[in-house]
Amino acid sequence: MSLTKIKHIVLVLSGKGGVGKSSITTQLALSLSLSGHSVGVLDVDLTGPSMPRMFNIEDAKVTQAPGGWLPVPVHAANPEKGVGELRCMSLGFLLRGRGDAVVWRGPKKTAMIRQFLSDVLWGEMDYLLIDTPPGTSDEHISLAETLLKEAKPGQLAGAVVVTTPQAVATADVKKELNFCVKTSIPVIGVIENMAGFVCPNCAECTDIFGKGGGQVMAKDFSVPFLGMIPIDPQFVMLIETGRMPEYPQGTVINGEDFSKALQNG
Ligand code: ADP
Repeated sequence: MSLTKIKHIVLVLSGKGGVGKSSITTQLALSLSLSGHSVGVLDVDLTGPSMPRMFNIEDAKVTQAPGGWLPVPVHAANPEKGVGELRCMSLGFLLRGRGDAVVWRGPKKTAMIRQFLSDVLWGEMDYLLIDTPPGTSDEHISLAETLLKEAKPGQLAGAVVVTTPQAVATADVKKELNFCVKTSIPVIGVIENMAGFVCPNCAECTDIFGKGGGQVMAKDFSVPFLGMIPIDPQFVMLIETGRMPEYPQGTVINGEDFSKALQNG
C-alpha cells in the first residue's frame, strides 16, 4: 500500500449528500496545512468528485510516475511561514470533461478505490483525509476492508462524521455511526454543520434547520462532539466562484485544535 509513510488516516463521512462533508474536508485540509502539517486529500466520491473544484485546481493533471500517480499539489510546503504541503487526488482529475459522469457498477468502483489506495505516491504525510460519498455504499465497504487489513496499528485515526441538525439528516447519519461500530472504525467525532444562520445585519442567530441534533446523536453513541458550524453566505460565494482556499482559515475548523484532539486520542 502507498500509505505506509502517512501518520494519520482520517475518513470524512456523512449520511446524506449536501450536508457540507466536502466543504469540511477542504477546510480541515487547509487548516491543518496552514498550521504546519503535511496533508493529502483523497477524494473517493467517485460519482460526484468535488475536491478539484473546492481547491480551485480543476484544470490540474495527475502525473503518472514510474511507481504510480503523483497527487496534485494545492499548497507547496513553506516551513518559514509554517505552511505544510497539501496534495490532492481525485477521479475528477482523470475524467476528460468537467461534467463527465461515472456510471460504474460496484466491482469497478471497488477496483478504483483499491487502485487509489495502492497507486498514489503520497510520500511522507502527517494526515491523509479521505472524502467519501454520502451513505454507506460499495466505496465505504471497499475502503473499510482495505484500510482495516492494511493500515499499521493506530494509523487509521478514524472517522469524522458530518451532519446537519435536521432529524432526517441525523437519522441518516446514525446509519453511518452504526457502520463505524460494525466495521470497528473508530469515530473521532461528529460535526454539526449549518447549525443556525447569523444575520449579517443584526447578528441574531436563527436556527433554520433546528439545532443540537448532532450533539444529541454524539451523546447517544458516546462519541465526541467536535462542534457546530453556522451557515455562512461568504462560504458559499467563495466556493461558487472557485475561491474556497481564500476562506478565512480557522474560522470553520481550527487545524491545531483538531490535531491536538487526535494526538490526545
Ligand atoms: P456534501 O459534500 O455533503 O455533498 P458540500 O460540501 O458539497 O456537501 O456542500 C453543499 C453546499 O452547501 C455547497 O454549496 C456548500 O457551499 C454549502 N455549504 C456547506 N457548508 C456550509 C456552511 N457552513 N455555510 C454555508 N454554506 C455551506
